[in-house]
Amino acid sequence: MSGVWAVCVDFIDALNEAARSTYPDEFICLHRAHNGIIDEFVMLPGSVFGETHSFINYWMDPIDYERTGSAHSHPGYSAEASEDDLQVFRSTGGVHFITCLPYDRTSWRVYNSAGERISLDLVYEDGTKVEPEE
Ligand code: ZN
Repeated sequence: MSGVWAVCVDFIDALNEAARSTYPDEFICLHRAHNGIIDEFVMLPGSVFGETHSFINYWMDPIDYERTGSAHSHPGYSAEASEDDLQVFRSTGGVHFITCLPYDRTSWRVYNSAGERISLDLVYEDGTKVEPEE
């Protein structure tokens, strides 16, 4: 996704919070970016939670703003993309977050549409970098 270089720590915290409250089901949403920073949830119409990735149908619906990708949670300790995940990533483009237990600031990964792990800076709302916690 062109121009995306960072993710807002508030987005990661909110993703993990949603993941916790949806556990043991998966939480799924889309997101969008401002100034290259992913910072906003885009909730799916009639959000689908659960084992299946049927949200792809919603993705294909035309929505009148730019979406930068998806984010979802895994109810386990692996944020490894599954075969189903990879298929969704490939067919939708953008960048894709997966967070896993224990749903903290280090338990997430982000992939590109080819399913390759990429890195994004973790930043505050004003764009300053979040230093890793000790
Ligand atoms: Zn998954």
